[in-house]
Amino acid sequence: MNVLVINCGSSSLKYQLIDSESEAVLAKGLCERIGIDGRLVYQKTGLDKEITEAPMPTHKQAIELVINALVNDKTGAIKDLSEIDAVGHRLVHGGEKFACSVVISDEVLQAVEECNDLAPLHNPANLIGVAACQEVMPNVPMVGVFDTAFHQTMPKKAYLYGLPYEYYEKYKVRRYGFHGTSHSFVSKRLAEYLGLDYQNSKLIVAHLGNGASISAVQNGKCIDTSMGLTPLEGLVMGTRSGDIDPAIMEFIAKKENLDIEGVMNVLNKKSGVQGLSRLSSDFRDLEDGHANGNEMATNAIEVFCYRVAKYIGAYVAAMNGVDAIAFTAGIGENGPLVRQKVMEYLGYLGIAVNEETNGVHGDEAVISTADSKVKVCVIPTNEELAIARETVALVK
Ligand code: AMP
Repeated sequence: MNVLVINCGSSSLKYQLIDSESEAVLAKGLCERIGIDGRLVYQKTGLDKEITEAPMPTHKQAIELVINALVNDKTGAIKDLSEIDAVGHRLVHGGEKFACSVVISDEVLQAVEECNDLAPLHNPANLIGVAACQEVMPNVPMVGVFDTAFHQTMPKKAYLYGLPYEYYEKYKVRRYGFHGTSHSFVSKRLAEYLGLDYQNSKLIVAHLGNGASISAVQNGKCIDTSMGLTPLEGLVMGTRSGDIDPAIMEFIAKKENLDIEGVMNVLNKKSGVQGLSRLSSDFRDLEDGHANGNEMATNAIEVFCYRVAKYIGAYVAAMNGVDAIAFTAGIGENGPLVRQKVMEYLGYLGIAVNEETNGVHGDEAVISTADSKVKVCVIPTNEELAIARETVALVK
């Protein structure tokens, strides 16, 4: 089966066409500046990237341009539309309504819309992407894969905030978690890679990218994760603050004369390692800065790693042990310095760094020493492949 995986934002749309039997990516790319002017990036596997400035006033036109590129005589990956067997959509927030992926129907779309309040930037854009695909491919089955679904197994004690219970009852204010597709994919692969029984294991996944989260996966089920009602909670991220004393919001609002939107903008876009370092949100820049003696860059890296290590400690306590830990996403897959610094905190678990294998970039590897009691690995994530697999499982 060929599955078109779609990740739709308000002005952009990423896509991959995946052959589910070989799990090969046939073509991939993105549409940018939808509704502004429009740019299509398309790459058939094995060929050069093509970039075309093309008007795309709406997402429907963007999808049409993607399909045209996919069936193009010269550089297309398929002959015609009939070779797209299913579409898998990344949907950000399923609230408490979705604990797994679903075949998209009118009822499903209605229920996702009811979660829009919880992800006002993402869910409406995701739904626009679904509607555009349905218009262009009315007879192709579509599946929704939620960022939040994997975390729905968290127990109440992990997902409730210490707030008046009525906020949970009335507004569903609770911890949901994100990056669920990645945490699910990586935790399963971690168990498989190490020959562990997924259904009888205690695993921790550190998804460290520009957005970063950690999850505790016990016996194949997520029992806790660091992001909350929104992706702002938890780790210090590229530009997000992660956990702070909530009273800081009032304090800063008064000092800087900001309203609530202004404070939220600071917490989401001007904080994290960007705000700390005054240099960059990108770890490559921070590592260069650190190597060149930039103390602010070093501080930002230290704060980031310390927070990761604290969360790992918390999740070892939550599961009363841990069998294996995985690093994934941009920094987790490519950042030996961060991995080493985090692992240095974990000596009490009998973990030691294998300095040779810890040099790995983007490949699977065990990066703890052979005699480490708890194995630490790099496991590259692949959210598109995970979405394609979920899609096939539901439409086959
Ligand atoms: P993601 O959000 O998963 O794409 O991850 C983005 C983050 O990964 C950025 O902070 C990048 O600096 C970081 N990253 C990507 N490649 C490298 C690398 N080779 N070394 C260190 N960090 C990297």
